[in-house]
Amino acid sequence: METAAPKKSGRARLALIAHDEKKTALVEFAMRHRAALQNFDIVATGTTGGRLKTACPNLSITLMRSGPLGGDQQIGAMIAEGTINGLIFFIDPLTPMPHDVDVKALMRLAVVYDIATALNEATAELMIVDPARLSDPLPIDRREREPKVTQ
Ligand code: PGA
Repeated sequence: METAAPKKSGRARLALIAHDEKKTALVEFAMRHRAALQNFDIVATGTTGGRLKTACPNLSITLMRSGPLGGDQQIGAMIAEGTINGLIFFIDPLTPMPHDVDVKALMRLAVVYDIATALNEATAELMIVDPARLSDPLPIDRREREPKVTQ
């Protein structure tokens, strides 16, 4: 596993993840949009990232652990640290997952921190139309919008 240092400046960071039944669709998405994706530092869960690296060797991709072994949680932690600008996660809604709670936790943090998030291909296509928008200030810089915790 590689490590991704907190991102303070430079290129925006995009997280890419796909469940097994959706990996081919995500690889095809990445190949279609590789010119746009070259503007990002990409982080990906292990198996997804391996597939993406093989298909698109010119992309900058940092591999986290495989999703069921903590990769989704690692990316969730990066969102909480304010180092992820966008999340594209092709989820498979038709297959039970042992790490379903991790996936739910990741999606929850993406909402809490107001990260641009695509959970299916149609939304990812909309997101990638204007990739520069994903480089807007990271949520951690948007102090006035920081989530409030109520007791
Ligand atoms: P994977 O993890 O890319 O290692 O398969 C994705 C997931 O299932 O969350």
